[in-house]
Amino acid sequence: MFAASGDEATDARVVADARERSIPANAVDRPHLCDFYTPAIVNRAPLAVAIGTEGAGPVLAQMVRARVDAMLPPALGRLAALANGLRDTVERMVERGVARRDFWRDFFAGAPARALAEGDAAGAEAAAHALMTGDRRAAGHVALVGAGPGADDLLTLRAQRLLMEADVVVFDALVPASVVAMGRRDAERIGVGKRKGCHSKSQSEINALLVELGGAGRRVVRLKSGDPLVFGRAGEELAALHEAGVPVEVVPGVTAAFAAAADFALPLTLRGVSSSIVLTTGHDLKGDTLPDWAKLAVSGATVAVYMGRSVAAEVAGRLIEIGLSPDTAVAVVENASLTERRRFHGTLADLPSLSARADLTGPVMTIIGDAVAGADFTRSLPLAAFAPAEQTSEEEARS
Ligand code: SAH
Repeated sequence: MFAASGDEATDARVVADARERSIPANAVDRPHLCDFYTPAIVNRAPLAVAIGTEGAGPVLAQMVRARVDAMLPPALGRLAALANGLRDTVERMVERGVARRDFWRDFFAGAPARALAEGDAAGAEAAAHALMTGDRRAAGHVALVGAGPGADDLLTLRAQRLLMEADVVVFDALVPASVVAMGRRDAERIGVGKRKGCHSKSQSEINALLVELGGAGRRVVRLKSGDPLVFGRAGEELAALHEAGVPVEVVPGVTAAFAAAADFALPLTLRGVSSSIVLTTGHDLKGDTLPDWAKLAVSGATVAVYMGRSVAAEVAGRLIEIGLSPDTAVAVVENASLTERRRFHGTLADLPSLSARADLTGPVMTIIGDAVAGADFTRSLPLAAFAPAEQTSEEEARS
């Protein structure tokens, strides 16, 4: 039993009543009245979550505290205060039962919560009133969420929270199953997996699906691997949603280039060596005109090549042709950030061997540049060992 009336005499009476019934009692901020303490508090005033342990110890309480703290949005206190101010109006306007429960759910996880998170108190109140009039469509929302490179603990706390609030999760093929599974158990999950060569849904079908779901008042999380704004076709989805007037937000994620660099402890910028980073695909190297990024590569930028396995030979050939040294360092990771990742290192001259590597079935990131020479190559295999004429299987190469 917690007594938190703010009045000492009342608290004392609550504690006495509790004790009479053998219920352990705690009076907030009155240690002399407490039978137990809560060693950990998550504070979102006027809301507080107290974590008690019944003897399991303060260390455990602090661990739980950290988890609860991470799950509760920073603006929750202001949201609780707004809820308190609206309580009477809601009781008048929204029928008790399912309608009222839905209202509060949409209030705490929908448009009012989002407006307050942006610091827009008036917008939050207006959104709450829109919900009170029973317009379920006002609850509709799509979040383009970065799922990170694969390891599920590289997901952001915000992504995790939105997943927990989502009615529908729409995900790509590269998004790990463990992340897709993180949402509510009753959430609908729709795979729109685009793998190289086999599109299960066209981009315009995906755009239409998001507009339809968001427009129908559902809370949608659109999960994309890595960061949604890097080679994620986010531009097209954002345009379709804006045009349809469906509210949309973007949650960044750890992009594959950063995960790959981390797997090699590879500084992408290095003082005196490289002061810029290029994120590219290499597919634009096939044309006659040289893309701008190629010039940046020659002038020292670190280049991260997405979707670059099959075009590795063109990338290497073209860069050497325009003056990048064949000795320039190259790092390659398949399945960056995952325990089953494979790392390779070598030079630009070795890179073409990648195109022939049919055994690399996971996503592959290639990083090229002088800064790569500073990476940790103790856990990677030499790319040169895979030159097609010399070796075929990975086992031979390891030996
Ligand atoms: N939006 C994603 C990129 C999608 S394009 C991001 O920000 O990371 C898909 C390409 O990303 C793949 O072909 C591969 O080059 C790269 N990629 C994605 N996940 C990867 C991983 N775990 N390891 C290596 N490369 C990865």
